[in-house]
Amino acid sequence: MTDIMQTVTDRDPNEREFHQAVGEVMESVKPVLDQNPVYRETRILERLVEPERVIMFRVPWMDDRGGYHVNRGFRIEMNSAIGPYKGGLRFHPSVNLSILKFLAFEQVFKNALTTLPMGGGKGGSDFDPKGKSDNEVMRFCQSFMAELYRHIGPDTDVPAGDIGVGAREIGYLFGMYKKLTNEFTGVLTGKSLNWGGSLIRPEATGYGCVYFAAEMLATRNQTLADKVCLVSGSGNVAQFTTEKLLDLGAKVVTLSDSAGYVYDESGIDRSKLAYVKMLKNMRRGRMEEYVEKYPDAVYTPVDPAADHNPLWDHKADCAFPSATQNEINGKDAQNLVNNGVMAVSEGANMPTMPEGVDLFLDQGMLYGPGKAANAGGVSVSGLEMTQNSMRLHWSREEVDDRLRTIMKNIHKTCLEAGEQYGAAGNYVAGANIAGFIKVVDSMMDQGLV
Ligand code: NAP
Repeated sequence: MTDIMQTVTDRDPNEREFHQAVGEVMESVKPVLDQNPVYRETRILERLVEPERVIMFRVPWMDDRGGYHVNRGFRIEMNSAIGPYKGGLRFHPSVNLSILKFLAFEQVFKNALTTLPMGGGKGGSDFDPKGKSDNEVMRFCQSFMAELYRHIGPDTDVPAGDIGVGAREIGYLFGMYKKLTNEFTGVLTGKSLNWGGSLIRPEATGYGCVYFAAEMLATRNQTLADKVCLVSGSGNVAQFTTEKLLDLGAKVVTLSDSAGYVYDESGIDRSKLAYVKMLKNMRRGRMEEYVEKYPDAVYTPVDPAADHNPLWDHKADCAFPSATQNEINGKDAQNLVNNGVMAVSEGANMPTMPEGVDLFLDQGMLYGPGKAANAGGVSVSGLEMTQNSMRLHWSREEVDDRLRTIMKNIHKTCLEAGEQYGAAGNYVAGANIAGFIKVVDSMMDQGLV
């Protein structure tokens, strides 16, 4: 185990986030390797941590004033043992190989848990859509797709959205793919309803994350009714997490963006949530503006260099980190514990740093790691692919029922795998082990390729 981590860090010493994601999985699967020496003999770990393919390309584009710009585009095709590569595209200035390799690696196990036939991938660009006009975003997406289209396809690699890539960007990307290939296929998911999208896809990650939390709470005879919840972020995942929490009778008191967070003690109700959706999705404004509309709430700017994030330092029952990776450090985790939080369900990918994860597990908290708790998004993407192949449309109720069943099954699978390998109640070990076994057994079946 030490050997494989050494290889990974020696080979790509600057990929800190990737090392973190690999380290967590390696730790969890040790008992599986001990019981099955064939995995070590066939160097399955070495094969698993090396992407099948990494694509990097130049993305030149022109702004509205005629200025020239060049960004970097990426697609990591990590593992196709159980299906075509599948995973989102992220447009954010922090995007680099380390971030995308960690996300692609996590995606492999997450997709295996969904029970749908999807391999793992991830991609994106260091382009920042913030402050750009619609036309600039369109030109960027067209230039990005002018290269990416060669590498993807409905049976090869099916990207979707992630941070900075929502319905608008998917539309522009799909339009360019269609023009270049002269084919109307389900090559992207998260499409709009009129042209092949699935009902419930926008809601799926947030709703699924809340369904997962409800399943965890049920193991302690609890429900989400009247629970006070901390939610971070204010994008797709945060918005629909909040919506489903309200449906189930919980009270949400925080939302944030990268500049700061609002604390609304009286609760972010449906009409306030409608305002946030308009603010973030239509006006593309900042959370700071929330307190101009609702002056009883408090806005606090957040300094990313500070030793903790005050958002996680409020009395609450449950926490739903839904912004980005490593947003809960050891101190934040301690604050959550001190404030009485009993359940953490991760909408974001890898939002908790390793010391925080260790603390949650030591405290016996209900802790749903992202690769299990936020698998609802890619699950409904899988259902979108199915509907596209069948050329039909399922109703809202049908997709939501399937999503709920998938989340229930993922929860059960994690619990059972944890129990089988001596980690009862540990959803991190359970998710990693269950995903790992399915993927590596498929790799073994397919030979050394
Ligand atoms: P989104 O709609 O773009 O929203 C992202 C939110 O997080 C925004 O509020 C953003 O604030 C905030 N944020 C981004 N980077 C940040 C940073 N470095 N520090 C603090 N806040 C930051 O993206 P999303 O789709 O909701 O994704 C949120 C998380 O969920 C990501 O970790 C993503 O990988 C994960 N996820 C998404 C899906 C999906 O279906 N969309 C599925 C599974 C997992 P600003 O507006 O200030 O940037």
